[in-house]
Amino acid sequence: MNNEQLWQAILGEIELSLSRANFTTWFKNTFISSLENNRVIICVPNTFTKAWLEKKYHKEIANAFKSVGSAEIKEILYKVEARKESPAEAFAKKAKTESIVDNKPKIVNRFGLNNRYVFDNFIVGKNNELAHAACQAVAANPGHAYNPLFIYGGVGLGKTHLLQAIGHELSKKTDKILYVSCERFTNDYVQAVRNGQAKGFKDHYRNINLLLIDDIHFMGGKDGTQEEFFHTFNELHQTNKQIVISSDRPPKAIPALEKRLLSRFEWGLIADISSPDLETRIAILEAKCREKNYKLDREILTYIADNITNNIRELEGALNRLIAYYEFNNSLPSIESTKNVLAGVISNFQTKSTTPKTIIDAVAKFFDINIKDLTGQSRKKELVIPRQIVMYLMRKEINASYPSIGQELGGRDHTTAMHAFNKMEKEYQDDERVRQNINSIKQLIYSC
Ligand code: ADP
Ligand code: MG
Repeated sequence: MNNEQLWQAILGEIELSLSRANFTTWFKNTFISSLENNRVIICVPNTFTKAWLEKKYHKEIANAFKSVGSAEIKEILYKVEARKESPAEAFAKKAKTESIVDNKPKIVNRFGLNNRYVFDNFIVGKNNELAHAACQAVAANPGHAYNPLFIYGGVGLGKTHLLQAIGHELSKKTDKILYVSCERFTNDYVQAVRNGQAKGFKDHYRNINLLLIDDIHFMGGKDGTQEEFFHTFNELHQTNKQIVISSDRPPKAIPALEKRLLSRFEWGLIADISSPDLETRIAILEAKCREKNYKLDREILTYIADNITNNIRELEGALNRLIAYYEFNNSLPSIESTKNVLAGVISNFQTKSTTPKTIIDAVAKFFDINIKDLTGQSRKKELVIPRQIVMYLMRKEINASYPSIGQELGGRDHTTAMHAFNKMEKEYQDDERVRQNINSIKQLIYSC
Protein backbone atom coordinates (compact mmCIF):
# COMPACT_ATOMS: atom_id res chain seq x y z
CA MET A 1 0.00 0.00 0.00
CA ASN A 2 1.44 3.41 -0.89
CA ASN A 3 0.87 6.55 1.18
CA GLU A 4 -2.05 7.64 -0.91
CA GLN A 5 -3.82 4.29 -0.57
CA LEU A 6 -3.04 4.14 3.12
CA TRP A 7 -4.53 7.59 3.68
CA GLN A 8 -7.63 6.67 1.69
CA ALA A 9 -8.06 3.64 3.95
CA ILE A 10 -7.63 5.81 7.06
CA LEU A 11 -10.16 8.31 5.75
CA GLY A 12 -12.53 5.45 5.05
CA GLU A 13 -12.32 4.48 8.72
CA ILE A 14 -12.70 8.01 10.06
CA GLU A 15 -15.58 8.79 7.78
CA LEU A 16 -17.63 6.12 9.50
CA SER A 17 -17.50 7.86 12.85
CA LEU A 18 -18.09 11.47 11.76
CA SER A 19 -20.93 13.39 10.24
CA ARG A 20 -20.56 14.12 6.54
CA ALA A 21 -20.17 17.86 7.20
CA ASN A 22 -17.48 17.40 9.84
CA PHE A 23 -15.65 14.94 7.75
CA THR A 24 -15.44 17.15 4.68
CA THR A 25 -14.63 20.26 6.73
CA TRP A 26 -11.66 18.74 8.48
CA PHE A 27 -10.36 16.09 6.15
CA LYS A 28 -10.73 17.66 2.74
CA ASN A 29 -7.36 18.23 1.06
CA THR A 30 -5.40 16.30 3.66
CA PHE A 31 -2.80 13.73 2.71
CA ILE A 32 0.23 11.87 3.99
CA SER A 33 3.40 13.58 2.92
CA SER A 34 5.84 11.14 4.46
CA LEU A 35 5.98 7.95 6.45
CA GLU A 36 9.41 7.04 7.73
CA ASN A 37 10.76 5.35 10.82
CA ASN A 38 7.31 4.86 12.33
CA ARG A 39 6.63 8.55 11.98
CA VAL A 40 3.91 9.85 9.76
CA ILE A 41 3.43 13.43 8.61
CA ILE A 42 -0.07 14.44 7.64
CA CYS A 43 -0.42 17.58 5.59
CA VAL A 44 -3.40 19.85 6.05
CA PRO A 45 -4.45 22.96 4.13
CA ASN A 46 -4.33 25.54 6.96
CA THR A 47 -3.33 26.16 10.58
CA PHE A 48 -6.91 26.03 11.75
CA THR A 49 -7.35 22.50 10.48
CA LYS A 50 -3.99 21.57 11.93
CA ALA A 51 -5.02 22.73 15.41
CA TRP A 52 -8.37 21.04 15.13
CA LEU A 53 -6.98 17.68 14.06
CA GLU A 54 -4.35 17.79 16.81
CA LYS A 55 -6.91 18.62 19.49
CA LYS A 56 -10.06 16.89 18.39
CA TYR A 57 -9.31 14.09 16.04
CA HIS A 58 -5.84 12.91 16.92
CA LYS A 59 -7.14 9.88 18.77
CA GLU A 60 -9.47 8.85 15.96
CA ILE A 61 -6.66 9.16 13.46
CA ALA A 62 -4.28 7.08 15.60
CA ASN A 63 -6.95 4.41 16.05
CA ALA A 64 -7.66 4.38 12.37
CA PHE A 65 -3.96 3.73 11.65
CA LYS A 66 -4.16 0.77 14.01
CA SER A 67 -7.31 -0.63 12.53
CA VAL A 68 -5.99 -0.54 8.98
CA GLY A 69 -2.97 -2.51 10.14
CA SER A 70 -0.37 0.24 10.69
CA ALA A 71 0.01 -0.32 14.44
CA GLU A 72 3.75 0.29 14.29
CA ILE A 73 3.22 4.02 13.77
CA LYS A 74 4.46 5.73 16.90
CA GLU A 75 4.25 9.36 16.04
CA ILE A 76 1.71 11.38 14.07
CA LEU A 77 2.58 14.94 13.12
CA TYR A 78 0.55 17.57 11.31
CA LYS A 79 1.94 20.10 8.91
CA VAL A 80 0.41 22.89 6.86
CA GLU A 81 1.15 22.25 3.23
CA ALA A 82 -0.84 22.55 0.03
CA ARG A 83 -1.39 19.34 -1.80
CA LYS A 84 0.71 18.75 -4.84
CA GLU A 85 -1.48 17.80 -7.72
CA SER A 86 -1.75 14.25 -8.79
CA PRO A 87 -0.94 13.68 -12.47
CA ALA A 88 -4.66 13.39 -13.19
CA GLU A 89 -5.39 16.70 -11.51
CA ALA A 90 -2.46 18.44 -13.21
CA PHE A 91 -3.72 17.18 -16.51
CA ALA A 92 -7.31 18.23 -15.84
CA LYS A 93 -6.12 21.75 -15.07
CA LYS A 94 -3.93 21.92 -18.11
CA ALA A 95 -6.63 20.50 -20.31
CA LYS A 96 -8.98 23.19 -19.10
CA THR A 97 -6.66 26.13 -19.66
CA GLU A 98 -4.88 25.01 -22.79
CA SER A 99 -7.62 22.95 -24.35
CA ILE A 100 -5.26 20.14 -25.18
CA VAL A 101 -8.26 17.90 -25.46
CA ASP A 102 -9.67 17.87 -28.94
CA ASN A 103 -7.82 21.01 -29.98
CA LYS A 104 -7.59 20.05 -33.61
CA PRO A 105 -9.34 22.59 -35.76
CA LYS A 106 -12.39 21.22 -37.47
CA ILE A 107 -11.54 20.63 -41.07
CA VAL A 108 -14.35 21.93 -43.13
CA ASN A 109 -14.48 21.73 -46.92
CA ARG A 110 -15.83 24.26 -49.40
CA PHE A 111 -19.39 23.09 -48.87
CA GLY A 112 -19.12 23.66 -45.15
CA LEU A 113 -18.89 19.91 -44.55
CA ASN A 114 -16.66 18.50 -41.84
CA ASN A 115 -14.27 16.04 -43.46
CA ARG A 116 -14.70 13.55 -40.63
CA TYR A 117 -18.41 13.13 -41.19
CA VAL A 118 -18.40 10.47 -43.89
CA PHE A 119 -20.14 7.10 -44.28
CA ASP A 120 -16.87 5.22 -43.96
CA ASN A 121 -16.42 6.02 -40.30
CA PHE A 122 -20.06 5.84 -39.27
CA ILE A 123 -20.68 2.78 -37.13
CA VAL A 124 -23.98 1.10 -37.78
CA GLY A 125 -25.92 -0.46 -34.91
CA LYS A 126 -29.52 -1.34 -34.23
CA ASN A 127 -30.12 2.20 -33.06
CA ASN A 128 -29.32 3.86 -36.38
CA GLU A 129 -29.52 1.20 -39.09
CA LEU A 130 -32.69 2.49 -40.69
CA ALA A 131 -31.47 6.08 -40.73
CA HIS A 132 -28.11 4.98 -42.10
CA ALA A 133 -29.63 2.84 -44.84
CA ALA A 134 -32.02 5.64 -45.82
CA CYS A 135 -29.13 8.12 -46.05
CA GLN A 136 -27.15 5.75 -48.23
CA ALA A 137 -30.15 5.21 -50.47
CA VAL A 138 -30.58 8.94 -50.83
CA ALA A 139 -26.90 9.42 -51.61
CA ALA A 140 -27.11 6.74 -54.30
CA ASN A 141 -30.33 7.96 -55.83
CA PRO A 142 -30.95 11.58 -54.86
CA GLY A 143 -34.36 13.06 -55.48
CA HIS A 144 -35.89 9.66 -56.10
CA ALA A 145 -35.35 7.30 -53.18
CA TYR A 146 -37.00 9.22 -50.37
CA ASN A 147 -37.81 12.86 -50.66
CA PRO A 148 -37.67 14.44 -48.22
CA LEU A 149 -35.69 12.26 -45.86
CA PHE A 150 -36.37 13.25 -42.29
CA ILE A 151 -33.93 12.01 -39.62
CA TYR A 152 -34.65 12.57 -35.97
CA GLY A 153 -33.00 11.67 -32.66
CA GLY A 154 -31.50 13.07 -29.46
CA VAL A 155 -28.42 15.23 -29.08
CA GLY A 156 -25.08 13.77 -30.11
CA LEU A 157 -26.44 10.66 -31.80
CA GLY A 158 -25.09 11.25 -35.29
CA LYS A 159 -27.70 13.27 -37.19
CA THR A 160 -25.27 15.89 -38.43
CA HIS A 161 -22.74 13.19 -39.24
CA LEU A 162 -25.24 11.37 -41.48
CA LEU A 163 -26.50 14.51 -43.17
CA GLN A 164 -22.99 15.57 -44.01
CA ALA A 165 -22.06 12.08 -45.17
CA ILE A 166 -24.74 12.42 -47.84
CA GLY A 167 -23.24 15.79 -48.74
CA HIS A 168 -19.76 14.32 -49.14
CA GLU A 169 -21.03 11.51 -51.26
CA LEU A 170 -22.96 13.77 -53.62
CA SER A 171 -20.22 16.36 -53.80
CA LYS A 172 -18.43 13.84 -56.02
CA LYS A 173 -21.15 14.41 -58.61
CA THR A 174 -22.40 17.94 -58.20
CA ASP A 175 -21.33 21.30 -56.88
CA LYS A 176 -24.80 22.44 -56.08
CA ILE A 177 -24.91 21.28 -52.51
CA LEU A 178 -26.00 23.27 -49.55
CA TYR A 179 -25.64 22.23 -45.93
CA VAL A 180 -27.18 24.70 -43.48
CA SER A 181 -28.33 24.68 -39.93
CA CYS A 182 -31.88 25.83 -39.43
CA GLU A 183 -30.47 28.77 -37.52
CA ARG A 184 -28.34 29.80 -40.46
CA PHE A 185 -31.28 29.50 -42.84
CA THR A 186 -33.35 31.67 -40.51
CA ASN A 187 -30.62 34.29 -40.10
CA ASP A 188 -29.89 34.42 -43.82
CA TYR A 189 -33.54 34.90 -44.53
CA VAL A 190 -34.05 37.63 -41.96
CA GLN A 191 -30.92 39.45 -43.17
CA ALA A 192 -31.95 39.16 -46.80
CA VAL A 193 -35.38 40.59 -46.12
CA ARG A 194 -33.89 43.38 -44.05
CA ASN A 195 -31.43 44.29 -46.78
CA GLY A 196 -33.97 44.04 -49.57
CA GLN A 197 -32.21 41.01 -51.02
CA ALA A 198 -34.98 38.47 -50.78
CA LYS A 199 -34.57 37.55 -54.44
CA GLY A 200 -30.89 36.78 -53.99
CA PHE A 201 -31.81 34.57 -51.06
CA LYS A 202 -34.41 32.68 -53.07
CA ASP A 203 -32.00 32.15 -55.98
CA HIS A 204 -29.33 30.92 -53.64
CA TYR A 205 -31.52 28.39 -51.91
CA ARG A 206 -33.55 27.22 -54.84
CA ASN A 207 -30.79 26.72 -57.37
CA ILE A 208 -29.31 23.59 -55.83
CA ASN A 209 -29.49 19.82 -56.19
CA LEU A 210 -29.22 18.90 -52.55
CA LEU A 211 -30.40 20.79 -49.50
CA LEU A 212 -29.30 19.44 -46.13
CA ILE A 213 -31.02 21.32 -43.35
CA ASP A 214 -29.94 20.52 -39.82
CA ASP A 215 -31.91 20.91 -36.57
CA ILE A 216 -35.19 21.99 -38.16
CA HIS A 217 -36.94 21.89 -34.77
CA PHE A 218 -35.67 25.43 -34.27
CA MET A 219 -38.07 26.58 -36.98
CA GLY A 220 -41.03 26.03 -34.66
CA GLY A 221 -42.85 29.31 -34.09
CA LYS A 222 -40.86 31.27 -36.71
CA ASP A 223 -43.67 32.00 -39.09
CA GLY A 224 -41.83 34.08 -41.69
CA THR A 225 -39.04 31.57 -41.98
CA GLN A 226 -41.51 28.70 -42.23
CA GLU A 227 -43.31 30.45 -45.03
CA GLU A 228 -40.08 30.94 -46.95
CA PHE A 229 -38.94 27.40 -46.27
CA PHE A 230 -42.28 26.10 -47.49
CA HIS A 231 -41.70 27.73 -50.88
CA THR A 232 -38.08 26.64 -51.05
CA PHE A 233 -39.19 23.11 -50.23
CA ASN A 234 -41.87 23.07 -52.92
CA GLU A 235 -39.58 24.46 -55.57
CA LEU A 236 -36.89 21.87 -54.87
CA HIS A 237 -39.28 19.00 -54.45
CA GLN A 238 -41.14 19.69 -57.69
CA THR A 239 -37.92 19.49 -59.63
CA ASN A 240 -36.79 16.30 -57.86
CA LYS A 241 -34.04 17.99 -55.91
CA GLN A 242 -33.19 16.11 -52.76
CA ILE A 243 -34.03 17.52 -49.35
CA VAL A 244 -32.72 15.98 -46.15
CA ILE A 245 -33.87 17.30 -42.81
CA SER A 246 -32.74 16.57 -39.26
CA SER A 247 -34.54 17.28 -36.02
CA ASP A 248 -34.35 16.31 -32.36
CA ARG A 249 -37.92 15.01 -32.51
CA PRO A 250 -40.45 13.71 -35.03
CA PRO A 251 -42.29 16.26 -37.20
CA LYS A 252 -45.52 15.97 -35.23
CA ALA A 253 -43.74 16.88 -32.01
CA ILE A 254 -42.23 20.11 -33.33
CA PRO A 255 -44.16 22.85 -31.58
CA ALA A 256 -45.78 25.57 -33.63
CA LEU A 257 -44.99 24.03 -36.98
CA GLU A 258 -47.38 24.93 -39.77
CA LYS A 259 -49.61 22.07 -40.83
CA ARG A 260 -48.64 22.34 -44.48
CA LEU A 261 -44.96 21.98 -43.59
CA LEU A 262 -45.68 19.12 -41.23
CA SER A 263 -47.51 17.25 -43.96
CA ARG A 264 -44.63 17.78 -46.36
CA PHE A 265 -42.12 16.47 -43.86
CA GLU A 266 -44.18 13.33 -43.75
CA TRP A 267 -44.21 12.84 -47.52
CA GLY A 268 -40.98 10.95 -47.72
CA LEU A 269 -39.32 8.75 -45.14
CA ILE A 270 -39.01 9.48 -41.45
CA ALA A 271 -36.21 7.56 -39.74
CA ASP A 272 -35.14 7.82 -36.15
CA ILE A 273 -31.83 7.33 -34.35
CA SER A 274 -32.06 6.13 -30.78
CA SER A 275 -29.39 5.66 -28.13
CA PRO A 276 -26.76 3.07 -29.05
CA ASP A 277 -26.61 -0.17 -27.09
CA LEU A 278 -23.46 -1.21 -25.23
CA GLU A 279 -22.11 -3.25 -28.12
CA THR A 280 -22.46 -0.34 -30.53
CA ARG A 281 -20.89 2.06 -28.05
CA ILE A 282 -17.87 -0.20 -27.73
CA ALA A 283 -17.68 -0.59 -31.51
CA ILE A 284 -17.68 3.20 -31.85
CA LEU A 285 -14.88 3.54 -29.30
CA GLU A 286 -12.86 0.85 -31.06
CA ALA A 287 -13.28 2.60 -34.37
CA LYS A 288 -12.21 5.94 -32.91
CA CYS A 289 -9.13 4.27 -31.40
CA ARG A 290 -8.20 2.81 -34.77
CA GLU A 291 -8.67 6.21 -36.36
CA LYS A 292 -6.32 7.74 -33.83
CA ASN A 293 -3.97 4.81 -34.01
CA TYR A 294 -4.14 4.31 -30.28
CA LYS A 295 -4.71 1.04 -28.52
CA LEU A 296 -6.79 0.69 -25.38
CA ASP A 297 -7.78 -2.52 -23.61
CA ARG A 298 -11.30 -3.77 -23.97
CA GLU A 299 -11.74 -3.40 -20.22
CA ILE A 300 -11.07 0.33 -20.50
CA LEU A 301 -13.36 0.73 -23.49
CA THR A 302 -16.09 -1.16 -21.68
CA TYR A 303 -15.68 1.07 -18.66
CA ILE A 304 -16.22 4.19 -20.77
CA ALA A 305 -19.12 2.63 -22.69
CA ASP A 306 -20.76 1.46 -19.48
CA ASN A 307 -20.70 4.91 -18.01
CA ILE A 308 -21.57 7.14 -20.93
CA THR A 309 -24.70 5.80 -22.44
CA ASN A 310 -26.73 8.16 -24.53
CA ASN A 311 -24.57 10.66 -26.31
CA ILE A 312 -21.86 9.71 -28.76
CA ARG A 313 -20.29 13.14 -28.61
CA GLU A 314 -19.70 12.65 -24.88
CA LEU A 315 -18.38 9.18 -25.56
CA GLU A 316 -15.85 10.57 -28.03
CA GLY A 317 -15.01 13.42 -25.67
CA ALA A 318 -14.17 10.99 -22.88
CA LEU A 319 -11.97 8.96 -25.20
CA ASN A 320 -10.15 12.04 -26.50
CA ARG A 321 -9.55 13.17 -22.98
CA LEU A 322 -8.13 9.83 -21.99
CA ILE A 323 -5.81 9.53 -24.96
CA ALA A 324 -4.61 13.10 -24.51
CA TYR A 325 -3.88 12.31 -20.87
CA TYR A 326 -1.76 9.27 -21.65
CA GLU A 327 0.09 11.04 -24.42
CA PHE A 328 0.67 14.09 -22.28
CA ASN A 329 2.00 12.04 -19.38
CA ASN A 330 3.69 9.51 -21.56
CA SER A 331 2.16 6.78 -19.43
CA LEU A 332 0.60 3.42 -20.13
CA PRO A 333 -3.17 3.15 -19.96
CA SER A 334 -4.68 1.31 -17.02
CA ILE A 335 -8.19 0.91 -15.69
CA GLU A 336 -7.32 2.72 -12.42
CA SER A 337 -5.97 5.81 -14.13
CA THR A 338 -8.90 5.73 -16.57
CA LYS A 339 -11.27 6.01 -13.62
CA ASN A 340 -9.28 8.93 -12.23
CA VAL A 341 -9.04 10.83 -15.47
CA LEU A 342 -12.71 10.37 -16.26
CA ALA A 343 -13.97 10.86 -12.72
CA GLY A 344 -15.08 14.44 -13.35
CA VAL A 345 -16.57 13.71 -16.73
CA ILE A 346 -18.53 10.69 -15.65
CA SER A 347 -19.77 11.95 -12.32
CA ASN A 348 -21.08 15.02 -14.11
CA PHE A 349 -23.47 12.80 -15.98
CA GLN A 350 -24.29 10.31 -13.33
CA THR A 351 -24.54 12.28 -10.16
CA LYS A 352 -25.36 15.78 -11.21
CA SER A 353 -28.55 16.52 -9.38
CA THR A 354 -31.39 18.66 -10.48
CA THR A 355 -34.34 20.55 -9.04
CA PRO A 356 -38.08 20.61 -9.67
CA LYS A 357 -37.70 24.06 -11.21
CA THR A 358 -35.10 22.87 -13.71
CA ILE A 359 -37.34 19.99 -14.69
CA ILE A 360 -40.33 22.26 -15.19
CA ASP A 361 -38.23 24.72 -17.20
CA ALA A 362 -36.84 21.98 -19.41
CA VAL A 363 -40.23 20.42 -20.13
CA ALA A 364 -41.74 23.84 -20.87
CA LYS A 365 -38.87 24.60 -23.21
CA PHE A 366 -39.08 21.26 -24.96
CA PHE A 367 -42.80 21.52 -25.63
CA ASP A 368 -42.64 25.26 -26.13
CA ILE A 369 -45.29 25.99 -23.56
CA ASN A 370 -45.60 28.58 -20.88
CA ILE A 371 -44.42 27.62 -17.40
CA LYS A 372 -47.56 29.18 -15.91
CA ASP A 373 -49.76 27.01 -18.13
CA LEU A 374 -47.75 23.93 -17.32
CA THR A 375 -48.05 24.37 -13.59
CA GLY A 376 -51.48 25.99 -13.59
CA GLN A 377 -55.05 24.81 -13.59
CA SER A 378 -55.80 24.89 -17.29
CA ARG A 379 -57.36 21.70 -18.61
CA LYS A 380 -56.11 22.12 -22.16
CA LYS A 381 -55.41 18.78 -23.76
CA GLU A 382 -51.93 19.64 -24.97
CA LEU A 383 -50.79 20.21 -21.39
CA VAL A 384 -51.60 16.70 -20.20
CA ILE A 385 -48.54 14.85 -21.49
CA PRO A 386 -46.01 17.57 -20.57
CA ARG A 387 -47.41 17.63 -17.03
CA GLN A 388 -47.19 13.88 -16.76
CA ILE A 389 -43.60 14.00 -17.96
CA VAL A 390 -42.77 16.63 -15.32
CA MET A 391 -44.25 14.37 -12.65
CA TYR A 392 -42.44 11.33 -13.97
CA LEU A 393 -39.08 13.11 -14.05
CA MET A 394 -39.48 14.62 -10.59
CA ARG A 395 -40.01 11.17 -9.22
CA LYS A 396 -37.39 9.47 -11.35
CA GLU A 397 -34.62 12.06 -11.18
CA ILE A 398 -34.98 13.52 -7.69
CA ASN A 399 -37.13 10.96 -5.99
CA ALA A 400 -39.62 13.63 -4.93
CA SER A 401 -42.61 12.45 -2.90
CA TYR A 402 -45.94 12.25 -4.70
CA PRO A 403 -47.59 14.91 -2.53
CA SER A 404 -44.71 17.32 -3.16
CA ILE A 405 -44.90 16.64 -6.89
CA GLY A 406 -48.62 17.43 -6.82
CA GLN A 407 -47.76 20.61 -4.94
CA GLU A 408 -45.20 21.75 -7.55
CA LEU A 409 -47.82 21.34 -10.23
CA GLY A 410 -50.45 23.70 -8.94
CA GLY A 411 -51.61 21.75 -5.89
CA ARG A 412 -52.72 18.58 -7.62
CA ASP A 413 -53.55 15.47 -5.68
CA HIS A 414 -50.82 12.95 -4.94
CA THR A 415 -52.80 10.21 -6.68
CA THR A 416 -52.56 12.20 -9.91
CA ALA A 417 -48.79 12.27 -9.57
CA MET A 418 -48.69 8.57 -8.82
CA HIS A 419 -50.85 7.75 -11.83
CA ALA A 420 -48.72 9.97 -14.08
CA PHE A 421 -45.52 8.30 -12.91
CA ASN A 422 -46.80 4.78 -13.50
CA LYS A 423 -48.19 5.67 -16.88
CA MET A 424 -45.00 7.38 -18.12
CA GLU A 425 -42.81 4.66 -16.67
CA LYS A 426 -44.68 2.13 -18.77
CA GLU A 427 -44.66 4.29 -21.87
CA TYR A 428 -40.95 4.91 -21.44
CA GLN A 429 -40.43 1.15 -21.66
CA ASP A 430 -42.87 0.47 -24.47
CA ASP A 431 -42.86 3.48 -26.73
CA GLU A 432 -39.70 4.54 -28.52
CA ARG A 433 -41.08 8.01 -29.23
CA VAL A 434 -41.82 8.68 -25.60
CA ARG A 435 -38.37 7.42 -24.67
CA GLN A 436 -36.76 9.73 -27.24
CA ASN A 437 -38.66 12.74 -25.95
CA ILE A 438 -37.86 12.01 -22.34
CA ASN A 439 -34.20 11.45 -23.13
CA SER A 440 -34.02 14.74 -25.01
CA ILE A 441 -35.62 16.50 -22.04
CA LYS A 442 -33.09 14.89 -19.73
CA GLN A 443 -30.32 16.24 -21.90
CA LEU A 444 -31.83 19.70 -21.54
CA ILE A 445 -32.07 19.26 -17.77
CA TYR A 446 -28.50 18.16 -17.29
CA SER A 447 -26.93 20.47 -19.82
CA CYS A 448 -28.01 23.63 -18.06
P1 ADP B 1 -26.13 15.17 -33.55
O1 ADP B 1 -26.10 15.99 -34.80
O2 ADP B 1 -27.17 14.10 -33.59
O3 ADP B 1 -26.23 15.99 -32.31
P2 ADP B 1 -23.46 14.49 -34.37
O4 ADP B 1 -23.72 14.02 -35.75
O5 ADP B 1 -22.87 15.84 -34.21
O6 ADP B 1 -24.76 14.37 -33.46
O7 ADP B 1 -22.55 13.39 -33.65
C1 ADP B 1 -21.79 13.66 -32.49
C2 ADP B 1 -20.43 13.01 -32.61
O8 ADP B 1 -20.58 11.61 -32.53
C3 ADP B 1 -19.75 13.31 -33.93
O9 ADP B 1 -18.39 13.50 -33.71
C4 ADP B 1 -20.00 12.06 -34.75
O10 ADP B 1 -18.94 11.83 -35.65
C5 ADP B 1 -20.04 10.98 -33.68
N1 ADP B 1 -20.94 9.88 -34.06
C6 ADP B 1 -22.28 9.85 -33.90
N2 ADP B 1 -22.79 8.69 -34.31
C7 ADP B 1 -21.74 7.94 -34.75
C8 ADP B 1 -21.62 6.63 -35.28
N3 ADP B 1 -22.68 5.84 -35.44
N4 ADP B 1 -20.38 6.20 -35.62
C9 ADP B 1 -19.32 6.99 -35.44
N5 ADP B 1 -19.36 8.23 -34.93
C10 ADP B 1 -20.57 8.73 -34.58
MG1 MG C 1 -26.22 18.05 -35.01
